[in-house]
Amino acid sequence: MRQKIVAGNWKMNKTRDEALALTSEIVNMVRDEVRGDVQVVVCVPFVYLTSVGKLLETQSNISLGAQNCHQKASGAFTGEISAAMLQSVGTQYVILGHSERRQYFGESNELLKDKVNIVLENGMKPIFCCGETLEQREQGIHFDLVCNQLTESLFHLTPEQFANVVIAYEPIWAIGTGKTATSDQAQEMHAKLRAHIASKYGAAVADATSILYGGSANPGNARELFGQSDVDGGLIGGASLKSRDFLDIIKSF
Ligand code: PEP
Repeated sequence: MRQKIVAGNWKMNKTRDEALALTSEIVNMVRDEVRGDVQVVVCVPFVYLTSVGKLLETQSNISLGAQNCHQKASGAFTGEISAAMLQSVGTQYVILGHSERRQYFGESNELLKDKVNIVLENGMKPIFCCGETLEQREQGIHFDLVCNQLTESLFHLTPEQFANVVIAYEPIWAIGTGKTATSDQAQEMHAKLRAHIASKYGAAVADATSILYGGSANPGNARELFGQSDVDGGLIGGASLKSRDFLDIIKSF
């Protein structure tokens, strides 16, 4: 059985008080309403990791996540945050290669390889994002492009290391746009990615890899998306900022 995961990506939203209020609501709702084996992750802005982490201590099925980290271990990189720093405040997951970081901060597959390495070396799990633009999909190059993102950033890992990676397929045209991939489109890409992982690491590793869907997922479409055989959960942006919506998505398995 693969781990089901619903991860919220808060991006650059919420003040401290709002962040703590949202976390408390999520903790209470998960405790009261969520049964079963879904792992919830909240990927919060760096400055709230410690205080949000404290509120999560009582709830083992909610993990603490960050949204990025620097690729180097330490040094003169003013304003940056290292993997060791994240690990030292209890971070368990780190989103890497989100399309916004690829687009606005020029993150390449090559750079992400280093970020994946350092996150794994520090005992955390990368949530590795991949996905195509609408133009690339219309050109029919989306399968090759997304598989190549995995090849170039992840396929240097040993099978043991790869076992700690979570994949998030996020078609860029669906992120924050209100346009969701259809469940068929999501399933088709997830199956391709799983086959691609199998071609490198074998069927057992591929079958054990959690592949999340991200892109305008909401309480109205999550059940159908999560019902697909190769969709193991979601990476949720906008809807993770409202506790009720986030919970309804978590309960959509
Ligand atoms: C995201 O940014 O990872 C995301 C999926 O955003 P949204 O759900 O808002 O489309």
